Amino acid sequence: MTLHAPYDPDNIFAKILRGDMPHVSVFEDEVALAFMDVFPQAEGHTLIIPKKVEARNFLDMPTEKLGAYMERVQQVARAVEKALNPDGVVVTQFNGAPAGQTVFHLHFHILPRFEGTRLGAHAAGQMATPEQLEPIASRIRAAV
Ligand code: AMP
Repeated sequence: MTLHAPYDPDNIFAKILRGDMPHVSVFEDEVALAFMDVFPQAEGHTLIIPKKVEARNFLDMPTEKLGAYMERVQQVARAVEKALNPDGVVVTQFNGAPAGQTVFHLHFHILPRFEGTRLGAHAAGQMATPEQLEPIASRIRAAV
């Protein structure tokens, strides 16, 4: 049962927040951190996670912290749109493994969509290197 379980402080995104795991950042403040997905399903696939909270998923997130976090989700989604000029943008998240969740710290995916380009596989394939992610990250960072 992964929908409700104790928060694991050693999940990958908790390690990123502690600085124990490398990441290619595009935005950070006291509320949230946004960084490039290392298995991008589309060019510019960005994740945004809340800080200072042990929430495995959207259902766990303390309601009083949700507003500030969602403001950052919108801010970064707008920056992705401004930087990459996609035809559409998917903003999504999954709750529990049966729903598709693989990392159990709340996060939203921001996925630019380009007409005629299919999405890649979720959390699979060849891991992108920081050198591959940085050129797009720098464009998003400049647009936040
Ligand atoms: P989900 O399956 O919704 O929990 O999404 C987790 C996402 O995290 C997937 O899209 C993975 O590709 C991505 N991911 C896994 N490990 C890392 C990592 N070390 N840095 C950045 N993204 C990651």
